[in-house]
Formats: sequence, structure tokens, C-alpha cells
Amino acid sequence: MVQKVVMAEVSGYRDVVARIARAAQACGRAPATITLVAVSKQQPWEAIEPVLAAGQTVFGENRVQEAVARWEGKSRGLTLHLIGPLQTNKAREAVGFFDVIETLDREKLARLLAEEIQKQGRSPRLFVQVNTGEEPQKAGVLPAEADAFIELCRRRYGLEPQGLMCIPPADEPPGPHFALLAKIAERNGLEKLSMGMSDDFETAIRLGATSVRVGSAIFGARQPRGG
Ligand SMILES: *Cc1c(COP(=O)(O)O)cnc(C)c1O
Repeated sequence: MVQKVVMAEVSGYRDVVARIARAAQACGRAPATITLVAVSKQQPWEAIEPVLAAGQTVFGENRVQEAVARWEGKSRGLTLHLIGPLQTNKAREAVGFFDVIETLDREKLARLLAEEIQKQGRSPRLFVQVNTGEEPQKAGVLPAEADAFIELCRRRYGLEPQGLMCIPPADEPPGPHFALLAKIAERNGLEKLSMGMSDDFETAIRLGATSVRVGSAIFGARQPRGG
């Protein structure tokens, strides 16, 4: 019985891995050039454990506290990505805990991250989040401000972002947003593109994603957050 449940959960994972490989091959890319970030937010440990056991080592979380609670003491050999908005009062903890912070999007955060990186001697890789749909409720720098912000990170704060991240509007075709992100990355000399989720990761791969952030297609529906 237990065995059956475990098999079912890993089959979602295996399916996503296979779809990534097919999408890569379909556009002449090597599957190994695309990192799968398994988004474990709001998932019970019973859903995560079999995916870990199957060999997945890269996980994404969108809240600092929740990530620490889930992964503290278990993160050896793993790569943990922060993919949710980072409040400035959590910058210290985020620098101490995550391997990749994908949501650098404002000057104050750049300053605090630079200070913490200095203090802690620990340098998570950084992505700049771009609000490609210019949605007021969404985090990220506006596309028109991205070049200047990247320059500011480099010149004033000595930060060298590796790439860009976006979350397209839920009600629009994602392709144009992915293409825009790729264009901004290219003109700024950034190599990494974090784009594509459960519903659109194949499109993102076609448009150059170097990492995709996939949650529900691997683990199933998320549990609602308590209190
Ligand atoms: C939750 C989340 C995902 C994963 O979404 P799915 O649709 O479940 O794949 C990806 N990126 C971000 C930023 C998220 O918050």
C-alpha cells in the first residue's frame, strides 16, 4: 500500500524529467543544460522524500521560514533555491541558508545582500527577477529598468547576478514573456534563465530556459498553508 503511493509520486517526477529531455532534444539542446528545480513549497515530507530518494538534488522554496523548517539538517548535498519574494528583514537568514536567491529585485535588497555576503563569507548565486508582465501585485524589476538595475548591482554593490527569473502573468501566453527575459539577459551578458513552471516548462525550454521551476507536476497539488 505504502509502496504504491511512493511509486505514484515518483512517476510524476520521472514524467517531468522525461518531458524536459524531450523538449530539449526537440530544439537541439542537451537535456543536461537544463536544471530541474523541484518546487517543494507546501508539500508534505512524504511527497518529497521519494523524489529525493530518486536522486533529485535541487529544490525550490518560496518562503524563508518554511524552507528552513523543511530543510534544516537535511540539506547536505542539496542545492536550495529561494524563488519567492525576499523581505529585507530576512536577507541575513536567506544568505545563510540558500544556495541560490532568484528574487533580487530592488536596490535595498541588493545592498543588504551585499552586506550579508561580506559578513557571512557565504555567496549564494543570484538571479534578478523581472516583472515581464508589469503586474502591480508581482515582484520583480520592470523590463525597462532591468539594464540599469543589473548595472547598479554590479557597480555599486559588487554583485554579479548569474541570470534572470520571471513569472509570466497567469492569463497570458507565456512565450512572449520568456522571449523578453531571454533578450534582456542577452544584452546584459547574463547566461542563466530561470523560467517555466508546471504548465509551461516546455515552452520555456524552447525559448532558452536553463532552469525550470516545477512543483505540482512533480508532487501533486499543494497543501493549503495553515495560519
Ligand atoms: C510555486 C512556484 C512554482 C511552481 O509552480 P507549479 O505550477 O506548481 O509548477 C514556480 N515558481 C515560483 C516562483 C513559484 O512560486
